Order: sequence, then C-alpha cells, then structure tokens
Amino acid sequence: MSHDDARPIVSAAPNRPAADESIRPTRLEDFIGQEELRANLRVYLNAAKERGQAMDHTLFHGNPGLGKTTLAQIMAAELGVNLVCTSGPVLERSGDLAAILTNLSRHDILFIDEIHRMPIAVEEILYPALEDFKLDLVIGQGPAARTVKIDLEPFTLVGATTRIGLISSPLRDRFGIISRLEFYTPEELARVVQRSARILGVPVTEDGALEIGRRARGTPRIANRLLRRVRDFAAVYGEGVVDAAQSVNALNRMDVDEFGLDQMDRKLLGVLIEFYNGGPVGVKTLAAAVAEEVRTVEEIYEPYLIQCGFLKRTPRGRMATARAYRHLGLRGGSEQGLLE
Ligand code: ADP
Repeated sequence: MSHDDARPIVSAAPNRPAADESIRPTRLEDFIGQEELRANLRVYLNAAKERGQAMDHTLFHGNPGLGKTTLAQIMAAELGVNLVCTSGPVLERSGDLAAILTNLSRHDILFIDEIHRMPIAVEEILYPALEDFKLDLVIGQGPAARTVKIDLEPFTLVGATTRIGLISSPLRDRFGIISRLEFYTPEELARVVQRSARILGVPVTEDGALEIGRRARGTPRIANRLLRRVRDFAAVYGEGVVDAAQSVNALNRMDVDEFGLDQMDRKLLGVLIEFYNGGPVGVKTLAAAVAEEVRTVEEIYEPYLIQCGFLKRTPRGRMATARAYRHLGLRGGSEQGLLE
C-alpha cells in the first residue's frame, strides 16, 4: 500500500467496508466460536478492570476475516476506552507513530492491523513505549543531537497479523497475550449467518444458513458476504427466503463449490497439477502462473487449501494432494506418491 492512496494514518474505526459495521459484534457474548480464546479474554478483561490498569498488550494472529479487528473493538467497548486504529503499512515514519502515541489517553487501545508490515525504524520506537510507556525522541542532528524522554499515558497495544512468523522476536516478546484465531466450523458459521440475517432482516432457514456456513472457507467475513449475495438470488428467484435450495443455487451460480473453493482456488490447484505435475513448485512460480501476488496466494488462498487437505507446503515447494486430484476430477497424484 503506497502513501498515494492517502489513507489516513489513524481512524476511530478500522478501514473496512461500511456494510460490515452494522453486523460486527460489539460484545464478547455476541462473538461466536473461538471458545477458548473468548473465555481467556473474558478473564483478562475482568482482571484489568478490577485492577484499574491498562490491559496487557495483545497480539491476535490468524487468517483475514476471522475476527481480529472485531476483538479489538470489543476489548475497547468492554473496558470503556477509546480505540485508535492504524495499520503497519501506513506508518511510514517513526514520527507517524510518535504522534499517535503522544495523543493517546489513559488506558486507550491502539490497534495496529497488519503489524508485521510496520517498518523496523517505526517498530523500534515502539519498544520503550510498550515496556515503560516512554518515548525516546531524538532531537536535532549530528553532534548537537540529543534524546528526550517523553512520558506516555499507559495504553494497550492490540496488534493483528496474518503472518506471525514475520514478527520480529523483540516485538513478539513485548506482548503479554498472544492468541491465534482458528478457522470456524460450518456450524459456527451458520450461527454467524443467522445472527447477521437477523440484523439485516433477511429470513433464513437453518439449512440455508448451514449451506452458506459450509462454503464460507471457515471465515465469518466470507459467510457474511455470501449471505448478502444469496439474499439477492433468493429475492430474484424465490420468495426472498434464504433456504437450502436457494443457497445451493446461488452459491453454484457464484462458482463457490461444496468445499467453499472459488474459481481462483481451483485455478491454483489446476495449474499446480496440470502445469507442474502436482509439484513441488515454488510459491513465486505458482503465483506468477495464476497472475496473483505472492502475498495473496500465501495469506488468502493457501491456508484454506492446506486446511482442507488439498495442498501441502514442503521444503521443496507446494504440492497438490491426491484429494485435490479427486476434487478436480483429475487422474494422478497416486503415481507420485501423493496418496494421503
Ligand atoms: P480480521 O480483522 O481478522 O480481518 P474482522 O474482525 O474484520 O476480521 O471480521 C470480519 C467480519 O466478520 C466482521 O465484520 C464481523 O462482522 C464478522 N465476524 C468476525 N468474527 C466473528 C465472530 N466470531 N462472530 C460473529 N461475527 C464475526
């Protein structure tokens, strides 16, 4: 993301489509699934409230759309503090972050999305801020330069990342709480769909919600997106009720198959199998062959294909599994020793 698109450096709400905001849970009780994480978070929130202290710095990691931003918003609401949102790539200079930090009020939550994409120079001024709520600012240059320490209000950093492996260990070590968000089950996603449908005023049957839940790649954001599209089809081709038949029809029309794979997922597997004999092939080659960015392939497509058992990451590159051959109705896989 370049500076040209003039994204503001901070905002009071995350940079997400407005349509998402009305259905985003605002209380921990409304956050579906992730039971263990939710139970622990409840303890940490209550403990912080009781002590009257800022909550420990928290890092959420997991695929896009699993609820990291939502949890940051819930934390701020539960603690009754402000939420200030920014993201790693927009913090280009250390001054950008210094300005944000010095503006925080007592116990505020600073949410940094895509924190793994923060430049190292910016990251370094964060260390003393996280540890002692102090900012070391260098004023002037050359021999006349001097460092001044500025006291900050105690605050909580909530970081979100899709790539925990890209976070430096000094930064990782400064988080008191590190939680991983898992893919959701179809049943949990059906509950997400039912909740959103209620808010949007869309009539949905249990089967209809489950059908969407099954095909939403384990991801609430996708479940909500599919619900909106199925609603459109149901309005045009039915009585407006999102039932199983309407869901199946709409999802097939959108090229989302019964595993939730879309055209791009199938293209990726198809290229891997037909051009590269099922692999192993490097991710860069694979991304180029499907005309996608490496980061998108790694962060959006691969995790779900791996979760479904269609793709393997090996030291020599990506490989299609026998299950992927079967799913695409192609022969092969077993000859190359790829049978599960
Ligand atoms: P991330 O920050 O991980 O990319 P978000 O927190 O923006 O994901 O979540 C995407 C959307 O999915 C939100 O608008 C929210 O409505 C919905 N969502 C995410 N997690 C849940 C959940 N556990 N229960 C209900 N809705 C959820």
